[in-house]
Amino acid sequence: MEEGFSLGVFLKKFGTPEKCLDTILNLRFPKGVYCDKCTAISKFYKVEGRPLYACSCGFQISPLAGTILEKTTTPLQYWFYAIFIMSTTRSGVSAKQLQRMLEVTYKTAWRMFKQIRMLMAESGGGMLDGIVEVDETFVGGKGKNRAFCQVSNSLDSYSHFP
Ligand SMILES: [Zn+2]
Repeated sequence: MEEGFSLGVFLKKFGTPEKCLDTILNLRFPKGVYCDKCTAISKFYKVEGRPLYACSCGFQISPLAGTILEKTTTPLQYWFYAIFIMSTTRSGVSAKQLQRMLEVTYKTAWRMFKQIRMLMAESGGGMLDGIVEVDETFVGGKGKNRAFCQVSNSLDSYSHFP
């Protein structure tokens, strides 16, 4: 595990699906969300109980659309934790270890492991050579739906933790 890792910091930032979703929303739309109906950048509000955000006019967007998280039934914080673990563990983590850490089925762990590893490879393999870049970018999705999941970027404060 990287120095400075703190589960407390992680939970504070990503302890609930809402926090994870908020992070993804902000990473995908750093300049604010454009509303197709209002044809302007607008304030979007979380839709209760669904992974969606809505403009006051009723237009809705899904921050997960086009990402590896779009159809997942595994809680988002598990994904964030897996990405975090996999990108900050120098010696690497196996799917089996992931299964134990997350307490999910091996099938789920393996699927997450495979997809996260693919993202890590796509993002340049910077994390795979043992040097963890805290501002490394994880990218999911294809083409214009490419979604950013800069988990470690959002976690950058942990590296400054005492
Ligand atoms: Zn609107």
